[in-house]
Amino acid sequence: MSLWHPFTQMEGFTPLGQVTEAKGAFYHLSDGRRLLDGVSSWWVNNHGHAHPKIAAAIAAQAERFDQVILADFGHSPARKLAEQVAAMLPGDLNHVFYSDNGSTSVEVALKMAMQGNGQGGERPRIVAFTGAYHGDTIGAMSVGERGVFNRPWWPFLFDVDLLPYGDLEAAQVYFTEQGHRCAAAIIEPLVQGAAGMVFSTPEYLASLSALCSNAGAWLIADEVMTGWGRTGSLFAVEQAGVVPDIICLSKGITGGTLPLSVTVARDEVYEGFLGPSKSEAFLHGHSYTGNPLACSAALAALSLFEEENTLNRVAAMESRYRAAMPEFAKLSRVTQLRCRGGIFAFNIAGGEGGYLDPIGKRVTQLALKQGLYIRPLGNVLYLMPPFCVGDEDLQDALGILLDATTQVVQDG
Ligand SMILES: *Cc1c(COP(=O)(O)O)cnc(C)c1O
Repeated sequence: MSLWHPFTQMEGFTPLGQVTEAKGAFYHLSDGRRLLDGVSSWWVNNHGHAHPKIAAAIAAQAERFDQVILADFGHSPARKLAEQVAAMLPGDLNHVFYSDNGSTSVEVALKMAMQGNGQGGERPRIVAFTGAYHGDTIGAMSVGERGVFNRPWWPFLFDVDLLPYGDLEAAQVYFTEQGHRCAAAIIEPLVQGAAGMVFSTPEYLASLSALCSNAGAWLIADEVMTGWGRTGSLFAVEQAGVVPDIICLSKGITGGTLPLSVTVARDEVYEGFLGPSKSEAFLHGHSYTGNPLACSAALAALSLFEEENTLNRVAAMESRYRAAMPEFAKLSRVTQLRCRGGIFAFNIAGGEGGYLDPIGKRVTQLALKQGLYIRPLGNVLYLMPPFCVGDEDLQDALGILLDATTQVVQDG
């Protein structure tokens, strides 16, 4: 028997520990250790582990009904959540299509754009960005940066037009010359996560949105990571005043309790699929589409933003990060110190760079010994714990990260 772990070379692998309980911002392990979850369990857990309100909502729904075939039936968790999501999103992002993870939410968006705006092959191109990560399924990998994450599959991925992330001039040139052949551009707004917490500006996003719209290309915002408060606003696009044609949301939607995602389309996108024949419809779905337990968990999780003043909490985290920055800035090899909302990140210069640079791992190993669990992206270190983390715990985490980084960069 093997438990085959994700993103893991299994040869010689042993897990960091066995989790027996997780509460709030902490993991509890079978050997008695308590670790601060500095990565929100791979960016999904935003309100803290085992939140009683979400747990109660799941339990109550499990007693009412579980899975329902959404092709033929409706049910109140799916309908209420769609209403809630549409109400929280800006503009006329009103049409909610369910799937069950971030990658599939991206597949859905791409397929919608190819069918709805591909014009039967007249607009055969998709624009993606350097450094992009949109998930691990074939379509999602195709619109991602070709790198270590997906090298074995390069020969099988479809070709896209790749623009440098954050470079407005390159986008202007592209859309002027080739925009009429582009069905959609897909972007991680404001922060590219897996690329190494790479930031871009709201102004860039606003200009890109205008370029797409002038060219008749749809803008797909992949907010699988940035959505639900992570960058300080409920959605990153709000900071640019942009309403994308399609938005992908997952990770934090259920507070990190159950897998769920939504791909939400504007009125015009949705209306393009209406017609007398089934062949014009969007013929896509998953077994667990609109799962009632996951929808109930999400309804409870989304209600917390108001009840717990979550966005104020995120703002307080950002202030705490800013206060800690000068100490990190003293380390000469620490570069590109940055924070936005619940994300704090920096790079360590002087190594090989990139995802396979071992230096980040040396820092996280030291941090682990002090009770902080984080996961490096090569030479990029970042902290993004659940928003429920207490201010003292956050200060402790920053202190541990600073000490570990200091030790590693001083060792050379
Ligand atoms: C994590 C992530 C995905 C993929 O989500 P999964 O649930 O892991 O499939 C897609 N896009 C972005 C921006 C992500 O961070």
